[in-house]
Amino acid sequence: MKVIGLIGGMSWESTASYYRLLNTAIKEQLGGMHSAKVIVYSVDFHEIERLQRAADWHTAGALLADVAKSLQAAGAHCLLIGANTMHKVAPAIEAAVRIPVLHVVDATAAAVRGAGLSRVGLLGTRFVMEQDFYIDRLRDQHGLAVLVPDERDREIIHRIIFDELVLGKIVGNSRQEFARIMAALVAQGAEGIILGCTEFSMLVRPEDCSVQTFDTTSLHARMATDWALSPA
Ligand code: GLU
Repeated sequence: MKVIGLIGGMSWESTASYYRLLNTAIKEQLGGMHSAKVIVYSVDFHEIERLQRAADWHTAGALLADVAKSLQAAGAHCLLIGANTMHKVAPAIEAAVRIPVLHVVDATAAAVRGAGLSRVGLLGTRFVMEQDFYIDRLRDQHGLAVLVPDERDREIIHRIIFDELVLGKIVGNSRQEFARIMAALVAQGAEGIILGCTEFSMLVRPEDCSVQTFDTTSLHARMATDWALSPA
């Protein structure tokens, strides 16, 4: 089994989910007392969030590139960036290491395609819903049509992420807001919804939506365990 390096702490709430998902997937596949070989480097999210807000992606990329190098030196064979948003700096991380970075968009798009869907709604931080790095990869590399909520609803989702979810707060009203926003995307033609934030599964349940939801955290973790168990 190969060693998975996880750049975590973005937020630590979702890193806890990743850790559990990685271990349960290995146990499911190998049985008995098997568990994942994983090295977690959990950053201080306070520093990352400030850089995101200041749009200082260069410094954020350099910081995470250093983390990636530490994980490689510690023996990781591949890397996961444990947040959709910070895939914005995936190129800087990839350039800093020799080991592969398993991309969350590729994991997610494969599942969407596997379900036979081609038009999806995308929920995440404003960075994920509004910038090119995420949507372009879904469209250009995976041929998916992508719908995002309107400006007001993007703001609501972004606020729920940063005022609640990364702080571990689960609020019933926010779940209802998600259900409303997902229903609006379905009414516009979304055949599935990408839960493109690694904390969303703490709040949103499959039954909150009339179409299939794609939880990026579990799909990303599954991609890593499949990779870790693949020969050579
Ligand atoms: N975990 C989040 C994500 O998947 C949001 C936190 C962040 O902005 O990094 O994008």
